[in-house]
Amino acid sequence: MQNAARQYRSSVRVEFNGQAANARSVVALMGLGVAEDDDVAVLAQGEDAAAAAAAVIAALQTRTESGHGAPAPLASASARSLPAGWIGGICAAPGLAIGQVVRLDAFEPQVAEFAVNADSERDQLNRALTEVSAGIAAAIDDALRRGQTSQSDIFSAHLALVDDPELRGAAERDIAAGHSAGYAFRQAVRAQCRVLSSLGSPLLAERVADLKDIERQVLKALLGDAQSEPELYPASILVAEDLAPSELTRLPRERVAGILSAAGGATGHVAILARALGIPALVACGPQVLRLDAGSEVLLDASQGSCDPAPAAASLAAARQAMAERERRRADMRADADGAAVTLDGVRVEVAANIANEEDAREAVRHGADSVGLLRTEFLFIDRRDAPDRYEQANAYQAVLDELQGRVAIIRTLDVGGDKEVPYLTLPPEPNPALGLRGIRTGFAHPEMLDEQLRALLMLRPLSLLRILVPMIADVGELRRLRRRIDSLAEEMGLSERPQLGVMVEVPSAALLADQLAAEADFLSIGTNDLTQYTLAMDRCNASLAASLDAMHPALLRLIERTVAGASLHGKWVGVCGALASDPLATPVLIGLGVAELSVSPGLVPEIKARVRALDQQACLKRVEQLLRLDSAAEVRAQAAEWWPEA
Ligand code: PEP
Ligand code: MG
Repeated sequence: MQNAARQYRSSVRVEFNGQAANARSVVALMGLGVAEDDDVAVLAQGEDAAAAAAAVIAALQTRTESGHGAPAPLASASARSLPAGWIGGICAAPGLAIGQVVRLDAFEPQVAEFAVNADSERDQLNRALTEVSAGIAAAIDDALRRGQTSQSDIFSAHLALVDDPELRGAAERDIAAGHSAGYAFRQAVRAQCRVLSSLGSPLLAERVADLKDIERQVLKALLGDAQSEPELYPASILVAEDLAPSELTRLPRERVAGILSAAGGATGHVAILARALGIPALVACGPQVLRLDAGSEVLLDASQGSCDPAPAAASLAAARQAMAERERRRADMRADADGAAVTLDGVRVEVAANIANEEDAREAVRHGADSVGLLRTEFLFIDRRDAPDRYEQANAYQAVLDELQGRVAIIRTLDVGGDKEVPYLTLPPEPNPALGLRGIRTGFAHPEMLDEQLRALLMLRPLSLLRILVPMIADVGELRRLRRRIDSLAEEMGLSERPQLGVMVEVPSAALLADQLAAEADFLSIGTNDLTQYTLAMDRCNASLAASLDAMHPALLRLIERTVAGASLHGKWVGVCGALASDPLATPVLIGLGVAELSVSPGLVPEIKARVRALDQQACLKRVEQLLRLDSAAEVRAQAAEWWPEA
């Protein structure tokens, strides 16, 4: 409605209950506390007063949906019964942690209260508001392009708050009174939050969260990243609604002991990062996690899917002992990590690492990885304004190859679309992005970008150590098309040698057609994260489905079995690079299904190698037959835990 008023020059006021509000200000209007079917007066003054009043009245009479598409309340994903007051969630990265709660959702940066130069403070506030507006406007464009209307509605509401004349006016008055820009803006927002909270309307009280979000964004623009970071304890348990990968990577690793998030899923990118960094993480915990007191000491047992918010001294002592014991075992495993992983009956299993960059490559080597089983190249493409050219890409990939000191690197072509967005690709609006343009389909839709990446890959030396992996292949036609493209680019570049080419099996059709794919591919690598989401028809980003999204489901195991059978018809090997490979409980299951390579988070290489060495492949083969006939992932897990208990 404030948009209706802003299109006219006249000033328009809305009066209710003896109070008046500027119709251009969403916060002032909300502060009136008007409910559906209440009578209000509209007063307009100025050259186009009649039209302005009519537009505002029309907007007032338009029934809106309650809220603006705020996400559905999160349910805790844990189905197990836990002691009263405990928090349950989905294990995104295993392990035990003791630490103090750092509430990223409620973190408040420090601002100076007073300032000497009001003009400079006003300029700084204007610059910050412009910067935040531009960021939100870009997010709206992006959401609209992708057909994500509920997100674009939320961002539009935020944009109206940033542009709000009452908020700005209140902040400017406070600046004139000698306060700093940050302090003044925070005061203006807080005053408005108090009004909204006092009106007794749950709907308006919900908008307080929107206002606080704007406050955070504006303060960040004013203070810069460094000062708007929370202070960490020596062992911090980060608590957030959801965590962006960038939030996790910019915090000092040695101070982050664990992660608890209300939303999220076990195969999201934060989960992947947490596993890579070896940080125990529990996701999809539901809103109760946001009620933990900042600074309180909690005991997180991510492997068990629980967090004790007020651990007794005895529990803490037991956990400390278990952590020390585990650290000792890990040290032993690390000492043995460089050797090959060979089962008791003499079958060698390649234990590779999933990485994203040169630094991860170093970590992989340090942890004894035999090779790199998946280099996700998206990380080079996201969070920037345009795509990296072939030289930048080739430099980054070559740096990885050099770090690997003679080990093979499987590099995946760009997998964007779906949950991985890049702003410079104008992807069409999609009602179902996970089922739309993503993976190799995006590559074929943007051939210039795909070619640039293929050229970069073909520039690497030695080519014999490079294997190219293609994401989201649905059938052999796509594989042929890509191979032709590689051949013709290699010819243009005067190359006689070709790198090996592998297919990611992450769409059920690829698993079902594995024999056809293996006839033309050099190897297959199963992406269990996507294969699970597409087989079970469950969005991998949906927190409320996280508990059911389990790659140990018998349907997945049957698809893996079929993939291996199809590949062996042509003498090709099959690896697993999805999160299932990093789960020690799944190691015997995958070996029993005939998987030859496990590509895992770098930090888990020693543990998975140790696990392989304790298994007999023939025994695994026999037992897995029985797992395929079970009814659910839970039954598979229970049976696997009984047959192959983890040390
Ligand atoms: C997968 O889908 O299992 C996979 C490894 O790819 P990503 O998680 O990057 O989609
Ligand atoms: Mg995938």
